[in-house]
Amino acid sequence: MQTLPLGTEPTVVSRPTLDVDRTMVGLDRAEISARLRDVGIPEKQLKMRTSQVWHWLYYRGVKSFDNMLNVSKDMREKLAEYFTIGRPEIIEAMVSKDGTRKWLMKFPDGNEVETVFIPDEAKDRGTLCISSQVGCTLTCKFCHTGTQRLVRNLTPAEIVMQFLVARDHLGEWPTPTGGRILSSVVMMGMGEPLYNFDNIKKALKIIMDDQGIALSRRRITLSTSGVVPEMKRCGEEINVNLAISLHAVNNAVRDEIMPINKKYPLEDLLAACRDYPGAKTSRRITFEYIMLKDINDSDEDARNLVRLLKQYDIPAKVNLIPFNPWPGSNYQRSDDKQIKRFSEYIFGAGISAPIRSPRGEDILAACGQLKSESEKMRKSELLKQQKSDGVIS
Ligand code: SF4
Repeated sequence: MQTLPLGTEPTVVSRPTLDVDRTMVGLDRAEISARLRDVGIPEKQLKMRTSQVWHWLYYRGVKSFDNMLNVSKDMREKLAEYFTIGRPEIIEAMVSKDGTRKWLMKFPDGNEVETVFIPDEAKDRGTLCISSQVGCTLTCKFCHTGTQRLVRNLTPAEIVMQFLVARDHLGEWPTPTGGRILSSVVMMGMGEPLYNFDNIKKALKIIMDDQGIALSRRRITLSTSGVVPEMKRCGEEINVNLAISLHAVNNAVRDEIMPINKKYPLEDLLAACRDYPGAKTSRRITFEYIMLKDINDSDEDARNLVRLLKQYDIPAKVNLIPFNPWPGSNYQRSDDKQIKRFSEYIFGAGISAPIRSPRGEDILAACGQLKSESEKMRKSELLKQQKSDGVIS
């Protein structure tokens, strides 16, 4: 595992070796074969060459064709002439006092995203929180990323790269057969993944492929603010675990703190959760609930939360997240006593409701704190995007 300094001092860790136009990262097998055919690899070798590239990219994690040891030198030179498998620039890599790691990556067009690794208590495994967009069109009031304008969707390559970079830094190549350090993934970083569904789907299929990274779909969770029409597709086409950023139990409060609720109100969202393909008691839907003092944390809110989950008969667990303040935020974290009381009420109703301990606060890596400097979309463009997403009318 690479040693990095503690604290918030940025560290330039690596220079870019990524060439977006020529990268093989993020391509599916058919696309790799097609590229190889384009550069003259004979038809009868295509399947074997594609498997070799895939193995070295996603099982061994190499960053240079030179390291593809069972590929002939001539072939390696040919691959290097036309393609790249390098990484983006890592402009900051930080480690929190609690072991949380955050990487700020810069892509060749200048856009930046953050990726966070959160070790569990024992520190022998952990979860990687991957971003899906540069910025976000949604403007959830409690979220730092929501104050950043959407610049663009991330490509499949840029989504997969976040995983590869984390594995590089954790020193976890080749793919372990058991006892993984990077043991699960949540699509919960910057952006709304269901507004970038096709690219997320392609990237997650690569991450799940059993000839490479081979992370089980049961170890992957996609978190949405509630883009109802895409939820069914998510269950049917990638069948990963689902998490919902709920954060309120009535439309008035949710409209206020999560404007997407005006487009897809609670009733529609909960019905889509009930119908989510694959949701069952053994595979519950997670409801994220950020605890905002005097906004959504009353005893009545707890009662309504239980009532709604039972009314819609959703196999559910609730994650209570004490609000993580960020510069300029208008909310306060609920009192510890009230968070505990809220949690106990939900537990008492037979629904798991652990309180998530804030992680990586000292490096602004905690939930809702991510934000890069890529703020290039003009206000008019943002309004246009929000209108097309149906967030505003
Ligand atoms: S909580 Fe998620 S969907 Fe809402 S603004 Fe933040 S990144 Fe966007």
